[in-house]
Amino acid sequence: MQEILLQAALDAGAEVRRGAWVRDVKPGPPPIVVVEHNGQVHEVQARLVVGADGRTSMVRKWAGFTVRRDPDRRLVAGVLFEGMPAAPEDTSYFAVKPEIGQMAILFPQGGARVRAYVIWPADTGRRLQGEGDIPRFMAESVRAGIPAEFFAQAKANGPLATFDGADTWVEHPYREGVALIGDAAAASDPSFGEGLSLTVRDTRVLRDRLLSHDDWEAAGQAYAEERTRYYHILHTCTEWFGQMFYELGPEAEARRAKAMPLIAQDETRIPDHMFCGPDLRLDDGVRRRFFGEE
Ligand SMILES: Cc1cc2nc3c(=O)[nH]c(=O)nc-3n(C[C@H](O)[C@H](O)[C@H](O)COP(=O)(O)OP(=O)(O)OC[C@H]3O[C@@H](n4cnc5c(N)ncnc54)[C@H](O)[C@@H]3O)c2cc1C
Repeated sequence: MQEILLQAALDAGAEVRRGAWVRDVKPGPPPIVVVEHNGQVHEVQARLVVGADGRTSMVRKWAGFTVRRDPDRRLVAGVLFEGMPAAPEDTSYFAVKPEIGQMAILFPQGGARVRAYVIWPADTGRRLQGEGDIPRFMAESVRAGIPAEFFAQAKANGPLATFDGADTWVEHPYREGVALIGDAAAASDPSFGEGLSLTVRDTRVLRDRLLSHDDWEAAGQAYAEERTRYYHILHTCTEWFGQMFYELGPEAEARRAKAMPLIAQDETRIPDHMFCGPDLRLDDGVRRRFFGEE
């Protein structure tokens, strides 16, 4: 995807500099980027700077944005396996065990390769990292409900790493000539798999605002307003899913005891925003249907 996007940018007339490192961003007007490339540092003045530097974004710090963060509730570990012919290739698996706050996910990639994730409570303090933790990763997947035979011949085909699940976000991702997109604007809990879709949507929404305004200050403000709107729809939805499927304790058990039998009778009670996107309606009626409180 990265190569395709870079080629499209080149074809559209952009100048692409690989191996360059941004050292500072000074908000405007006009905004300035300090770039280090081939051992040389120079400043670039721009009409607009777009910070797309990921979940640990320095652009948002340099440009003076305030970052908000959810409490640390979940950890997410992921690894690519080969040699998993028993996992049918036309099916993705979500195994959820709410009573231990744990989930395991398998996304078959074809050719017996499977991208696998395990999600578990952050307060265990346990992080799965590197080759030595692969057997533990498999055991935790099975504990969440994945059939053990899927892993009979499995071998890791990439690094195993653990990530924090907490969302981080900026309330209004535009100021003084600097717009933030993707994880820099808001990094959604990876266990819900929304981040790349949000990033691509941000790119489209910002592009459309720039094309429809001669005044790019107004375009940046309009982008940030819209970004905040749809991110908070998804964030609200992922919070509800967290309460329903991950939270531990008697209150959470009572919530599930009330909601699950109703969901089993009518699956449309589950909000579908994570698959269909943030254009679906989201209000207290949707919440009450999900939790069986109407
Ligand atoms: C375990 C895990 C599973 C995930 N699963 C899914 C999923 O199933 N579906 C989904 O939609 N999303 C998923 N995501 C989220 C997705 O990966 C991110 O939302 C997405 O990559 C964000 O894109 P980005 O371009 O904003 O940031 P990144 O992909 O992080 O890219 C940022 C880039 O900026 C560069 N950079 C940083 N600082 C500088 C600097 N100073 N100078 C120059 N370059 C710099 C970095 O090198 C990097 O290339 C997952 C994330 C994790 C951690």
